[in-house]
Amino acid sequence: MPRVSSAAYSRKELRSLLAQLDSKQALEDLLQLLAIPGPSTQEGEVIRFLQTRLREGGYRPSQMTLDPVQEKSPLGGEVGSLVLCLPGTRPGPRRLLMAHVDTVPLCVGSRPVVRGRWIRSADPQTALGADNRAGAAVLLHVALELRRLGLEHPPLTFFWPVQEEVGLFGARFADLKRLGRPRLAFNWDGGDPCKLTIGATGAYRMEIHIHGQASHAGAAPEQGVSAAAVAALAIAQLQQDGWHGRIEKHGQLGTSNIGVLQGGSATNVVMDHLLVRAEVRSHDPKFRKQILQQFRQAFHQAAQQVQSARGKRARVRFHAQLDYESFVLGRSEPCVQAAWQAVRHLGSQPQLAVANGGLDANWLTARGVPTVSLGCGQENQHTTAERLRLSWFAKACKIAMILALGAESAAAE
Ligand SMILES: [Zn+2]
Repeated sequence: MPRVSSAAYSRKELRSLLAQLDSKQALEDLLQLLAIPGPSTQEGEVIRFLQTRLREGGYRPSQMTLDPVQEKSPLGGEVGSLVLCLPGTRPGPRRLLMAHVDTVPLCVGSRPVVRGRWIRSADPQTALGADNRAGAAVLLHVALELRRLGLEHPPLTFFWPVQEEVGLFGARFADLKRLGRPRLAFNWDGGDPCKLTIGATGAYRMEIHIHGQASHAGAAPEQGVSAAAVAALAIAQLQQDGWHGRIEKHGQLGTSNIGVLQGGSATNVVMDHLLVRAEVRSHDPKFRKQILQQFRQAFHQAAQQVQSARGKRARVRFHAQLDYESFVLGRSEPCVQAAWQAVRHLGSQPQLAVANGGLDANWLTARGVPTVSLGCGQENQHTTAERLRLSWFAKACKIAMILALGAESAAAE
């Protein structure tokens, strides 16, 4: 039964409550979650595990819904995001706790084992999957403990989005009504639990198709228009002018990368088609657009420099799409303040950070739900050296519990 009392928790109550958390169970659930294969779009088994554990913990199936984002995602997918929506046992603005459940493909086959102060994968060929099963486990732990200990809390939404790693689709297409239109949002995905990520860069993704002219490379190369030559000229230009890789111009910063070149079928044919896939990032939307413009120009100009004996030139089709918009939250943003106080309660010094990669928080913030991201013990993400630092995970669980209870102001007393 929820404990009935009018006030939030005192500092002392909060301390004793945090000491009662079942950290052994949290670790057990974490190990199980890490072992489930579930790369982006194939998260079905992870979602079923979470549903089962929540039911075992006393939640009703009617409190859990699936947000069918796989129907909106360009990649499809086998399952939607899991949402557990709870009314408050005391009033207050609704809080959202979230953590994506998908992993990068390198994690498939992970065999998590505890080794000293870390969890690693016993299989050296796989990553661990702490990114982001650690976050998923933090949320599960908080939801289960709220019920087991009968704790009073404000209106809460637990949100386990799918498809973060492949384009932030779980957050981008999330049904905000289903999430109960939260006012404060906290996202667990990262390493140090005391690092509060309050902003992240924005990015465009480009597809550049170069259509040249095929011709026999020995008999009549002059009748062809080489798509390879066009791409080479364009990329060389971008590189020479400082628009490729790390970009610094007049105090502005950005990055760009030509990631994929696909074209050609034989050495004796002038290459008639080449697909270039590239990306651009910058915290500054204007500068990001400027870099994009340099890419567009470089490829169109290069197309003018290569022609066949008959004067034929290549055609360039340039597609750019916004992957995610950059954002920076103010220090006075309620979610930032709450997270700051929760970290302080545990005797640690919070640090504010801005990320150079996209987060689910980019899309939620862009859609009107300011979201701060916190770490949950991940290290060396997306590599076979990935591991989870147990002390960081334990701390993340406590911070998440304080935030779920809305007890951070008591903590700051
Ligand atoms: Zn992640």
